[in-house]
Amino acid sequence: MKNILLIPFLFLLTSNLSHADTKTVPPILDETAMDQKSSPCDNFYQYACGGWIENTPIPDDKSSVWRQASSLDEINFSILKKILQQYSEGQNIVPSQNAQKLGDYYQSCMKPDQTRAIQILKSKIQRILQINSSQSLANAVAQMHLDGISAVFNFSIYSSVNDSSQYALYFDQGGFDLPSRDYYFANPDDPNDDKWKKTLKSYKKHIAAVLNLAGYSKARAQSSAEAILKLETQLAANAMTREEQRNPEKLNNPMSLAAFSQLSPQFAWNEYFKALKISHLQQAIVTDVEFYKKLNALIIKDKKNNFSTLKSYLIWHLLNDVSVAMGGSYEKLNFDFFSKELRGKQQLQERERTCAEMVGADMPDALGEAFVKVTDGEKAKNEINMMVDVIKGVFNDELLQLSWLDESTRSAALEKVRLLKRKVGYPDVWKDYKSLNITNKTALENFLSANKVENTEMLSKIGKPVDKTRWDMPVWEVNAYYDPTANEFVFPLAQILPPSLDLNASAGANWGAIGATLGHEMIHGFDDEGHQFDGNGNLNNWWTANVEKEFKAKAKCYVDQANTYEALPGLFVNGEVTLGENLADQGGMLTAYLAYRKASSKNPPAKDWAGFNEEQQFFISYAQSWCIKMRPEALRVQIQSDPHPPADFRVNMVLMNMLPFRKAFNCTEGTKMAPRKTCELW
Ligand SMILES: [Zn+2]
Repeated sequence: MKNILLIPFLFLLTSNLSHADTKTVPPILDETAMDQKSSPCDNFYQYACGGWIENTPIPDDKSSVWRQASSLDEINFSILKKILQQYSEGQNIVPSQNAQKLGDYYQSCMKPDQTRAIQILKSKIQRILQINSSQSLANAVAQMHLDGISAVFNFSIYSSVNDSSQYALYFDQGGFDLPSRDYYFANPDDPNDDKWKKTLKSYKKHIAAVLNLAGYSKARAQSSAEAILKLETQLAANAMTREEQRNPEKLNNPMSLAAFSQLSPQFAWNEYFKALKISHLQQAIVTDVEFYKKLNALIIKDKKNNFSTLKSYLIWHLLNDVSVAMGGSYEKLNFDFFSKELRGKQQLQERERTCAEMVGADMPDALGEAFVKVTDGEKAKNEINMMVDVIKGVFNDELLQLSWLDESTRSAALEKVRLLKRKVGYPDVWKDYKSLNITNKTALENFLSANKVENTEMLSKIGKPVDKTRWDMPVWEVNAYYDPTANEFVFPLAQILPPSLDLNASAGANWGAIGATLGHEMIHGFDDEGHQFDGNGNLNNWWTANVEKEFKAKAKCYVDQANTYEALPGLFVNGEVTLGENLADQGGMLTAYLAYRKASSKNPPAKDWAGFNEEQQFFISYAQSWCIKMRPEALRVQIQSDPHPPADFRVNMVLMNMLPFRKAFNCTEGTKMAPRKTCELW
């Protein structure tokens, strides 16, 4: 149940654990990570990260390694594994009222009762095979959605964009499993076309292998996979593009359940609503009306065939979504396609890590509460709160001077900054898991009940007040997010620990690393998406037509600049899709720089570090927070499915547009890092 409007800070690197022998985090500034033989004015990313890139291997079970986060992530997970191991042995060293549930879930994942798991899976498959009418189809889809299995379309529940104080029900597009809709369409003009075709071919082979494992004959598995791929391709074709999804106004289509049902009357919506216990609702918000209109034809077509394609499709989705919980051959097959072929990983990660991730995903507050008890973050929390105050003040001053804002837009922007809320470190209130029943038998059973309890609870909250204490990211994750429906930015504990923030480092170093992240999240509230939400998180555009025109003209410069960036041979960054993140990086870095100047104006400059003054430290620290090495396969997935541009882009493009950077490193105009033409917005 994902809030599709949440804007996470970074592309989620699928598991950033690095080698088990590196038990310390790297320093915030690291001379050995640099390549001082290269020129800072030619490629600053290489200058700041070149040494690290050369000397850091990507572990076999990872698709990337990140200087800033991998070691910390490894440490965090070794703590989580230790806590879970102790709970599973009945020890309660870190006191927790959820110790039994956490321990049993972990144990069920480490030593699953496979016979029992297969029995559960069989009964789920049986139910799908019995589909013979629109009613039984709708009912089966509803049961899968309650179990947290994706199929045909998605629903989610989060703050209403029309009244952010209440929860609303959203119906989204969905039902296709490759990383983005683009994967389904081979493009004859695209030099990567062969690669795409190969991916589709392997995907089809993978679906057949999974169905075969579940008891389909080889021939039937193959013909079913063919039909499933066609169905997913149709769903993908019916879905909005990534560019279209960037407009929250377009995603806001409130309608009565009766009107919604009429978009695709062949699906027995009443049956579906009844199973979800939501028949009484007045309204839902449909993010993609066309998608639901086109669904109708898909159902009519398969109905003639006694739903044979949809049945195989639902079985495939079930098996795919439970593969990690099942472990064994199911997990191995899933790894071979989604991790190895798509993202270039060489080896399955250890089961302990997978199990800790699974328990953490399903009971984040229970595990988070235990994690916080053994991680000291008080000083960091205070420091971050102080930095947030400074950066809000600086941005406020910037808005006062910005020439492309007219007065009414300026005062709305100032009001939005004033109302901007923050969550730092960890929740004040932890969610309780009283209604969740966990046993030590099978991870599959626990996974399904955790999803069912969560979904049922959320469904019962539609139309009721939003729980403002809730966090949508676990505290051990090195990441942050901005929630436009709450006008709130959130910084989990792991994001504010070293090396993102080092209380012994210079102000320049800290503002360059964590300060840029704070700025980035704040700026999200003020771009072409953010301006559609007011300070209270309601969809309420506060730009005038003139300001919008000015913004578009300035933003085009960034779109064009990004479009020229070749991430892999023939594969370019999509300037439009990445615009929000790109502007957040640009504006965030600029605001962090001004905040650093303001915060240190009363103090003498910090001591030089490795021959670099504090101003230079600010830029090196920023760049070093983005030293990332990624397998080309994983980079391709990122470019094709994620709005975040690659790491070297986030460093070089941002700094190319910043005049203080070229001054700090004496880059003369005309060098690569100091181009004549720059883009300017904030
Ligand atoms: Zn962002």
